Amino acid sequence: MKKFTTGIVIFLLFTIVGFAQHDHAFYATMDANDAVSFNALYPDEMRIIASNDKQAAVLLTEEVAHKIHDNVKTHGPGYIFRASEEKAIQALEAVQRRSVQLEYTITEDVFVNECLNLVNPQNIEDDILDLQSYGTRYHTKSQAAAAVYDQQAKWDAMIAASGRTDVSTRIYNHVNTPMPSVIITFDGANTPDEFVIIGGHIDSTTFGDKNNAPGADDNASGIASLNEMVRVILEKDFVPNRSIEVMAYAAEEIGLVGSAEIAEAYANNGVNVAAYVQFDMTGYNGSSSDIYLTTDWYNSSELNDYLAALMDHYNSTGTHSFTYGYTECGYGCSDHASWADNGYDATFPFEARMGEDNPNIHTPGDVYTFFNTPEHSVKFTKLGLQFLIEAAKPQILSVDDFSENAIRIFVKDKALNFRLNNTISNVANVSIYNIAGQNILSEKVNTTNGALQLQQFAQGFYIAKFNLENGHTITKKFILN
Ligand SMILES: [Zn+2]
Repeated sequence: MKKFTTGIVIFLLFTIVGFAQHDHAFYATMDANDAVSFNALYPDEMRIIASNDKQAAVLLTEEVAHKIHDNVKTHGPGYIFRASEEKAIQALEAVQRRSVQLEYTITEDVFVNECLNLVNPQNIEDDILDLQSYGTRYHTKSQAAAAVYDQQAKWDAMIAASGRTDVSTRIYNHVNTPMPSVIITFDGANTPDEFVIIGGHIDSTTFGDKNNAPGADDNASGIASLNEMVRVILEKDFVPNRSIEVMAYAAEEIGLVGSAEIAEAYANNGVNVAAYVQFDMTGYNGSSSDIYLTTDWYNSSELNDYLAALMDHYNSTGTHSFTYGYTECGYGCSDHASWADNGYDATFPFEARMGEDNPNIHTPGDVYTFFNTPEHSVKFTKLGLQFLIEAAKPQILSVDDFSENAIRIFVKDKALNFRLNNTISNVANVSIYNIAGQNILSEKVNTTNGALQLQQFAQGFYIAKFNLENGHTITKKFILN
């Protein structure tokens, strides 16, 4: 995230001539009004190449970039790094919306609440302290890459413990930073080419000595929240219909570099991302409400409405209750802007009203003891779980032809084989009825798939009734041959 400071910076002055050739000049896009203001302040160190009513393509020196990062009213860097002049100008063009329209339904009360009950604040605290202990995660420092590889190892250990073969991790190497990102993927069971993605940056920064950037709130807290979501859905053996990805990004603090490369690659490859939600700073409770949905123009208002509906549904009363409000975050304020920039529906729930967020970020004072409790992060973890489960759920549970598609059966060698089309629930028991409606067999099974031996029965029509643990009943007719 971003904050105000009034640090004194000594500038090297460059002339416009030869500007682009300067080692530390680069292209970016930023808020159109900010560009005009900064250009007036630093006419020799930045140039506006093109602009529209919202954003400007600019060429600027690293020094001015730092100045923008420190002074623009936004959480993140305040600009988006662009690899070339062409890309900076292209970014001003209106992007075509790429996200598939999500059916924003809320149907999984039982399972979601079971998951919320498993959120463990201690894990979140441990992860924040763990990430803080690198001392710095500034993108060019070796500790930053180490934190990414250690993050991958953490996820790999969770996957190994779960025994799952449909969950995997991968390192994503970048062009514009030596720091890699890391991604965990849960393969979707039915529509694996549709993605629901959440993420946060794992790098850190500071205005001063880059070796002292603990980044506890910004953004060890967000990564810790993501880790706890992953842990819970693995513990509950959740198999989504859509693929889920959780991303820990490199180099957000210098212009959303990691997420921009990934989101652009996804767009170029035509990847179908249904929705993206960012977790950047979840630790510090600075406002009257708990979670603030950011409403910047590039965010998806439909997605914000969905997150609000999820909180109305799951968090208005009881053990998991908390409150929410709305705020604006600013241009390029965190990695969700990279996804929005590529036409995907994206948004960002933030720890406080903008300006009331953690005052210590981007300083050596961004340490855990400043907020000293994982409880604020717990709320974001719960929101994330609610979102992941409802947005990536087996669609089958929310449609009318439930009994048609929820379970697949076939008969082979006089055994009735069944496979529930999702693992959100188990089949608790199966009852077999003859054509006269008499119950001829009942078995407790407690599994998502299995086979019932029916050798003792004559050939003919039968009815199988599957009672699910979530209360649903599915009835299927079959021929025993
Ligand atoms: Zn941040």
